[in-house]
Amino acid sequence: MWYTKNTSEVLKDLNVDESIGLSTEEAKKRIEKYGENKLASKKKKSIFQLFLAQLADFMIYILLAAALISGIMGEISDAIIIIIVILVNAIVGVVQESKAEKALEALKELSTPKAVVKRNGELTEIPSEEVVPGDIVIIDAGRYIPADLRLIESANLKMEESAFTGESVPADKDANVIIEGKVGVGDQHNMVFMSTLATYGRGIGVVVGTGMDTEIGKIAKMLDEEVEDSTPLQKKLEQLGKYLGIGSIGICFFIFIVSMFQKRDVFEMLLTSISLAVAAIPEGLPAIVAIVLAMGVQRMIKENAIIRKLPAVETLGSVNIICSDKTGTLTQNKMTVTKFYANDKLLHIEDLDFNLETNKLLIECMMLCNDATYSESSKTGDPTEIALLEAGFKYDITKDIINAEHKRIDEVPFDSDRKLMSTVNSYGQKYKVFTKGAIDSILKISTKLMLNGQILDLTENMKKDILKAVDLMSDDALRVLAGAYKDIDAPPHIGLDEIEKDLIFIGMVGMIDPPRLEVKDSISLCKNAGITPVMITGDYKNTAFAIAKELGIADSLNQSISGEDIDKLNDEDFSNKVRDLRVFARVSPEHKVKIVKAFKSHGNIVSMTGDGVNDAPSLKAADIGVAMGITGTDVAKGAADMVLTDDNFTTIVSAVEEGRNIFSNIKKSIVFLLSCNLGEIITLFVAILLNWDSPLLPIHLLWVNLITDSLPALALGVDPGDKGVMDLPPRNPKESIFGGSTKLMLPLNGILIGALTLVAFRVGEYLYPNSVPHARTMAFVVLSVSQLFYALSIRNDRKSIFQIGLFSNRFLIIAIIIGIILQASVITITPIAELFKVYSLTLKDWGFVILLSLVPLVINELLKIILRNKEI
Ligand code: ATP
Repeated sequence: MWYTKNTSEVLKDLNVDESIGLSTEEAKKRIEKYGENKLASKKKKSIFQLFLAQLADFMIYILLAAALISGIMGEISDAIIIIIVILVNAIVGVVQESKAEKALEALKELSTPKAVVKRNGELTEIPSEEVVPGDIVIIDAGRYIPADLRLIESANLKMEESAFTGESVPADKDANVIIEGKVGVGDQHNMVFMSTLATYGRGIGVVVGTGMDTEIGKIAKMLDEEVEDSTPLQKKLEQLGKYLGIGSIGICFFIFIVSMFQKRDVFEMLLTSISLAVAAIPEGLPAIVAIVLAMGVQRMIKENAIIRKLPAVETLGSVNIICSDKTGTLTQNKMTVTKFYANDKLLHIEDLDFNLETNKLLIECMMLCNDATYSESSKTGDPTEIALLEAGFKYDITKDIINAEHKRIDEVPFDSDRKLMSTVNSYGQKYKVFTKGAIDSILKISTKLMLNGQILDLTENMKKDILKAVDLMSDDALRVLAGAYKDIDAPPHIGLDEIEKDLIFIGMVGMIDPPRLEVKDSISLCKNAGITPVMITGDYKNTAFAIAKELGIADSLNQSISGEDIDKLNDEDFSNKVRDLRVFARVSPEHKVKIVKAFKSHGNIVSMTGDGVNDAPSLKAADIGVAMGITGTDVAKGAADMVLTDDNFTTIVSAVEEGRNIFSNIKKSIVFLLSCNLGEIITLFVAILLNWDSPLLPIHLLWVNLITDSLPALALGVDPGDKGVMDLPPRNPKESIFGGSTKLMLPLNGILIGALTLVAFRVGEYLYPNSVPHARTMAFVVLSVSQLFYALSIRNDRKSIFQIGLFSNRFLIIAIIIGIILQASVITITPIAELFKVYSLTLKDWGFVILLSLVPLVINELLKIILRNKEI
């Protein structure tokens, strides 16, 4: 039992040196021995199972019945074709589904937590699955624990272990205790367990169990949270599919009854009705939507955005407020100290005289109360802290040396609510508390001030002078960090309350963090697209505003507010005021929830970024929670809908653009499928009502369904993004997909396709009075080819096919060519033509049917011209 041993015994048993960690070769050997660090998961469906699942569908049963009836009636060719249709449908379904599945899996993999381990003497981040027994793992607040660990170092470490203990209050952990006898998981205070979460403090542990050998593995409790992966649109479509199904079956039934009164052939009409029902129900639609979503999500990964929850893709297209953190997202997070304030003087950092006691103490405070590392070759940790070490390095002070001289005895980690961090360091026989943090927080806990080596009472006037200096620095967009200290005789064993009080103010440093170069353009793109960018930051108001102004987020200081002022307003007043605000400064994570709610109360669709442990509530409250991939904690990532792998604001804007395009592509596929299906219904419905010969045979319907519902519909779904999509306002999420011009264009095109097919049939009958099959062939070709051409004009409802580039969607062009070749083959290759009971058309016939087939395309293009002219 690892918890009964002391740390050196544990390290010896696991054969690892704490300061070096495992070597790459040793880790390789161990992974072979112990296996990957993951819990056994559910088995995946095989291709064959997927195939069978495709067949378990109501429509397929009907088709099978139709094939059976045809076979019994001696219509073997019909039966064969129906079977082929079923098989091809199922194969297309399997391909689509497995593609969508793969994309989702890739996503899951990308969003699995990583672990920071020491290997070959260096800290590296590796996928949790590669962690092996003996690995030295670094634990920070906000990180999930990758395996079972015996702690070897801990500082105020608290763990959320409710999965084991049911206890929602985080458990305190301590590397130095040794426990005797056998105790339960909840009492193993020197151990931390796989899948639990560090909520506070930090620590280092050595891996003692991985994969199924962990506590969580033992109870085989899968924490594999089920990701909700059908989007609101998918749900709506499912509903719509049902209605359409019932509607089409109703119409087909009606056609069948009418044809019985007309004394038509029962068997043929039964088959026609069934085929029409099959053709009319857009059964391929859910698969197409899924695949378009999945492919869009893949594209987003390449643009550094990982979608964790599929519904987010859709919501992205409606986002009209983007709330963004400042540091690292809008700025580069590359800090450099440029100014300092001490002894009542604001100077350039180059002018710092290290011989002055106050200056020396300021640098010591900033370097000792610091968790980063800095050498010329490697830097790790928070960029704010790295900048402080870099400033000291210029005076030849390195953290290692100063740390060895003044050992750290205790610490209170930084958190963005307090905006402070403290350490207790030894100074000879005595100790010093060092606290650094936001100037307002430091002033609140300081009672004295060091001036030219003397300790004076901190008066209101002095505070005013300090704040003047702060304003001077922050108006230059500098981030200000203050330092304070106090001498103590013995280190207190109490935390926060005793440490962070009655401090002596030393001074401040100001550091520059330049805006990201590309962000300015993204901000103007946002504004153009009807999206309001908003800055949310823990930083000082003037610093935040200076940067917001430079980036074009705000233009007047009135548009900014501080957390303190937010607290003074009640929810209603804040909600009224929020419309005019663009910069929220000195906010803590709880304010973020308030901000999201206030914006949402006006019907806005809000996206919010976050990285810390406490950001989870605001990420959840937002319509789109966005977590930082590099600096973000696992908690923030877990709560988010989207993770940015480059922490960049520009990525959010690209994701919104992609979201808009995905939605519009899905819409194109749907409108295409439904108008084509409507065309098929109209053709038969009208012909039967008018007591004409049936213009299409059942197999014709099935065939047309096969060539138009598959490739062209899919090709529309992957239409290249429309460059003008960010010139339009965000989509109103309440507006139906059939709103706007669609409610007119969809039926119009359905009627047009149906009418043209009937025209082809009647003209055929007129030209060839004794040959119904000849007329049918013409109708058959017009029905399929007109749909193929029509697909071209759906690509954009304003711009002409030439404006968007006739060949800019290669897939669609290929799909159309394949469709036409297949259609021509069915008609011209004799054995197949016999199967389809069609005639080879004459050149003149071809000319005629092609002309007719072009009509929907031409009419749609003409309508677009009218619409465009109306807009001018
Ligand atoms: P954003 O929310 O845009 O990322 P931020 O990084 O400034 O902004 P926080 O990390 O919450 O937000 O920091 C808030 C304030 O706390 C900073 O302005 C700074 O004064 C102080 N601060 C930041 N990092 C540290 C640190 N490591 N130690 C002490 N104080 C810090």
